[in-house]
Amino acid sequence: MPSLFDGASARIEAALEHVDISEDIAQGLAQPDAALKVSVPLRRDDGSFGLYAGYRVRYDSTLGPAKGGIRFHPDVNVDETTTLAFWMTTKCAVMGLPFGGAKGGISVDPKNLSPAEMERLSRAYIDQVADFIGPDTDIPAPDVNTNPRVMGWMADQYRIITRAHRPDVITGKPVEVGGSAGRTTATGGGAFHVLKTMMARWEREAEGTTVAVQGFGNAGVRFARLAAEAGYTVVAVSDSSGGIHNENGLDLDAVEKAKTEHGSVTAAEGDQISNADLITLDVDILAPAALESVITDDNADQVRAGVIVEIANGPVAAEADRTLADNDVIVLPDILANAGGVTVSYFEWVQNRQAWYWDADTVAERLEKRMVEATKAVADRAEALGAAHRTAAYVIALETIDKAAQARGTSA
Ligand code: GLU
Repeated sequence: MPSLFDGASARIEAALEHVDISEDIAQGLAQPDAALKVSVPLRRDDGSFGLYAGYRVRYDSTLGPAKGGIRFHPDVNVDETTTLAFWMTTKCAVMGLPFGGAKGGISVDPKNLSPAEMERLSRAYIDQVADFIGPDTDIPAPDVNTNPRVMGWMADQYRIITRAHRPDVITGKPVEVGGSAGRTTATGGGAFHVLKTMMARWEREAEGTTVAVQGFGNAGVRFARLAAEAGYTVVAVSDSSGGIHNENGLDLDAVEKAKTEHGSVTAAEGDQISNADLITLDVDILAPAALESVITDDNADQVRAGVIVEIANGPVAAEADRTLADNDVIVLPDILANAGGVTVSYFEWVQNRQAWYWDADTVAERLEKRMVEATKAVADRAEALGAAHRTAAYVIALETIDKAAQARGTSA
C-alpha cells in the first residue's frame, strides 16, 4: 500500500508537469530538511510511568521559519508528520506567508489523559524539542486534539527553558498570553471564505444548496455555523462516534448542545448515519473536516457531492484524484481551504514580534482579504492550465518557493 507521503510525492509530480522550476529546488522539495524523533515521558496521575513517541519534522524553510501544528493522536507517525509538514510548506507558499513548513505530534490518545496529565505531556514534549524549534526557525501551533490551552502550556515551558519571554515561538495561544483575536475561528472561517468566493464565481446561491460536514471539531463546527447563517442547508454532520442527518436541515444549536452534554453529535435528533454514509450522501457540498484519507479508491466513485471542501488536511487520498476528476467533482484543496488557521497564526506571530495587538475586526478583515485573493489566484490558474484546483495550488506554491530560492542564490 502506498504511504501518505507517496501520495504527496505523486501530486508534486503532477504539478511539476505544469511548471518549470529548477531541478535543484524540485530535488530539495522531495524530502524533508530535518526530522526529529523523541521519547516523551509522562508520570500518570496514578504514579505509573509511560513513554510516548513524539516527532517534529521541518520540511522546508525557503520562504521563512518553518510553521505547522502539533497533533496528539494514536496514529501519529513519521510518515504522517512528514506529509503534514510538506502540506504546510505548500500551504504557506500558496497563501504568500513568509513561512516554510513543519509539523509535530505525539502518538497518544488524549482522551485517556486527565487535564494534569495533558499539561505534563505538553511540557515534556517541549523539553524534548526545545532546541529544534524557535521563533526564527520553527514555530508550532495547534492541530488535531491540541488547542489554545495546550499552546499556552507549551509556550510557558519554552519560556522556562530559555529564560526568555518569546510568545512568537508558538501560535494559537490563549489571547491572555499573546494569542491573536480570531485565531480559533480562523480555519472554519477561512474555509467558508473559499467556498463563498467560488460560489460567487460559479454564480450559485446559498439557498437550496445542501452541505454535509464530516468532523465536528473546531473547524467543522465553525464552517457549518457560517454556512447555515449564510442560507445553506446543513443536512448532516458527524464526529468519531458517527453522524446525524436531516434532509430539511439540522438544528445546529441542538447538535452542539448534544456534543457538549453527551460527547457526540449522535445524541442530537436526526437519522443516525455512519461516517462512511456521510461521505456518499447526495449533497451539493461535502466538507471533510476530520482526518486524512477518508475518500479513497474504495469510495471515490460513490461520492455524489459536486464540490468537496477539504477542511481537514489530506482527506482525499491521492489515489482518489483521478476518479473524482472523471466524475466532475471539484475539490477545493486543503492547502487553500484550511489555510485560514495558519494565516491568522502568521498574524499572531507578527503581533507578538511587535507586541502590538489588533482588534478582532482587523484580523477578520485581513483574513478575508488574503483568503479571497488566494482563492481567486488558484481558480484563475486552474482555468488557465485546464487542471484541478489542487494542481493549480501546487503550481503556485512551487513557483513561489522556486522564485525565492533563485532570488537568494545557492550555497550548495
Ligand atoms: N494545524 C493547522 C494547519 O494544519 C495550523 C498550523 C499553524 O497555524 O501553524 O494548517
